[in-house]
Amino acid sequence: MTTVTRRAIGFIGLGHMGGPMAANLVRAGHRVTGFDLVPEAVRAAGAAGVVPGASAADAVAGADVVITMLPAGRHVLALYEEQGLLAAARPGTLFVDCSTIDVADARAAHEAVRRAGHRGLDAPVSGGVSGAEAATLTFMAGGGAAEFAAAEPVLAAMGRKVVHCGPDGAGQAAKICNNMILGISMIAVSEAFVLGESLGLSHQALFDVASTASGQCWALTANCPVPGPVPASPANHDYRPGFSAPLMAKDLALAANAIREGGVGAEMGLRAAELFASFAEGRGAGEDFSGIIRTIRDGSPQDGKTI
Ligand code: NAD
Repeated sequence: MTTVTRRAIGFIGLGHMGGPMAANLVRAGHRVTGFDLVPEAVRAAGAAGVVPGASAADAVAGADVVITMLPAGRHVLALYEEQGLLAAARPGTLFVDCSTIDVADARAAHEAVRRAGHRGLDAPVSGGVSGAEAATLTFMAGGGAAEFAAAEPVLAAMGRKVVHCGPDGAGQAAKICNNMILGISMIAVSEAFVLGESLGLSHQALFDVASTASGQCWALTANCPVPGPVPASPANHDYRPGFSAPLMAKDLALAANAIREGGVGAEMGLRAAELFASFAEGRGAGEDFSGIIRTIRDGSPQDGKTI
């Protein structure tokens, strides 16, 4: 095992992702003080060696590095300024936000961090809860080279790959672009299977061809939306997540915001955001995102509107 410099880390947001991420930092030898609004999350992290903070401010008071893993941009921005997190930290603290948030919010967070005399990095992740547990996440980072260099060894304790994508907000930009590919490609793969069904083509035959031909993609070969060809895919387990449809809808909504703000002609991205929003609000609320194939097959979403 590589020797790491032991850091004092404040970790805010100990949910599905943050809890196991904080536990991996403890395993790597860091001193982690954590806080979450949900006392049970703090207790569970405590069992993994995370020192419980009395509040978010308390958790960051003695930290060199502060990591946030929160639901959305508004939580990060409110915590940083209105709720006094930046003010509670020592000058020059490195603030790493690993939440998936709007690119504009990420840039606003960088500005707030800088105004308060600290250093910042946006570093959202890919890999889901299983990746958080196994410390195999991919981190996509945005910010200065010095900030990235300082954060990299800490992020490496929670992931397998850490990529510096560019300046402020570039990590979030990479995250939403990647997940837009994933959302669109899951719809494409699902539509192809449903079209194949109507043409009398077996799932296995289409899989055997497309998985080794130009239709090959992760949505097909790792998260195949029909049961059978890929035993580990959620389709074999009644579409239990996996990567939940509401999280895909959230990421596509962030992509759609950026598409509209930038005036980008990304029509498939906008349409995928609409389809996943509708799916996640209805039968997809508790399903893996690949369950969208059942909506496509039915030809209409839960609310009966034609899609
Ligand atoms: P989660 O809801 O399980 O965890 C978020 C935690 O933040 C909750 O426990 C909540 O109580 C806490 N929180 C909210 N506001 C707080 C505050 N002011 N102070 C302290 N704690 C606060 O969500 P999650 O699944 O862990 O996801 C976290 C982030 O990671 C999201 O931005 C999500 O989009 C992203 N993400 C999730 C996955 C996944 O598979 N779950 C994958 C990649 C990225």
